[in-house]
Amino acid sequence: MTAAAPERAAPLLDVHGLTKRYPTRQGEVTACEDIGFRIAPGGALALVGESGAGKSTVVRLIAGLEKPTSGQIRLHGQHTGDRPRGRSARLARAAAVQIVHQDPYSSLDPRQPIGDGLAELLRLHAGRLAGGLGERSARRDRVTGLLDTVGLPGLADARPARLSGGQRQRVAIARALALEPEILLLDEAVAALDVSVQAQILNLLADLRERTGTTLLFVTHDLAVVRQLCQEAVVMRGGRVVEAGPVGRVLTAPQHPYTQALLDSVPRPGWRPRRISPPV
Ligand code: ADP
Ligand code: MG
Repeated sequence: MTAAAPERAAPLLDVHGLTKRYPTRQGEVTACEDIGFRIAPGGALALVGESGAGKSTVVRLIAGLEKPTSGQIRLHGQHTGDRPRGRSARLARAAAVQIVHQDPYSSLDPRQPIGDGLAELLRLHAGRLAGGLGERSARRDRVTGLLDTVGLPGLADARPARLSGGQRQRVAIARALALEPEILLLDEAVAALDVSVQAQILNLLADLRERTGTTLLFVTHDLAVVRQLCQEAVVMRGGRVVEAGPVGRVLTAPQHPYTQALLDSVPRPGWRPRRISPPV
């Protein structure tokens, strides 16, 4: 008897032929076309490309905020286009994919203490999450734990209005994690932060992934930040995938001139600004 070939783990997220067109006054705009990739459970994939490449459109489609013109998105093999039946199934679906945006401020109430905001989220999802979160004391403990996890210990009473950009981004990550999502979509989540704060948030995400096995889709225009966090990279340009593969290979031996051009714009150790004209 021959042993069965080992099966590859089923992907957590499977995107296939994803296309989105928008009607505009000037005619139809194709924001993304025939996008395909997979992310294994616990994996981290970087979606890379300059502004206008179609990255955020892909994120919105995966999050179910918009419907694709064509193509499929499967989460755990289930088509996400099918509307779940019943309130609890819909809450579970809404929680399964969480987005962290570049500027989380718009989704935070500037005057509500961040601990209260988190506790409110936990109460809404108490029926689905383990840990007896119907009880106020259990929610308080969970809030303390979440704030510790994202490096904001003891700040439950702080209001977003007096937090720094990096701290607010940590709050956004805590809110996403509170719902125990299957996958976290980070759309330029560190782009607006200072380089040193960026590095802290990337460390936090790498650490989270190690401890909780959270699957990540990390969207960025900056190739410099993907190596630390991601195993796979998909490079988009003009709404299409131009290159995809393991991060190490894409960064060291890019196959497409566009990826090379993106890499050339990234300062690396030993990088010198290119002279525009020879010195006189
Ligand atoms: P990225 O996130 O990579 O910067 P986007 O997904 O935001 O790119 O946009 C990709 C393209 O689709 C851009 O040309 C943008 O103008 C266009 N686009 C995005 N959303 C809409 C919309 N709602 N209506 C019309 N065009 C859109
Ligand atoms: Mg975008």
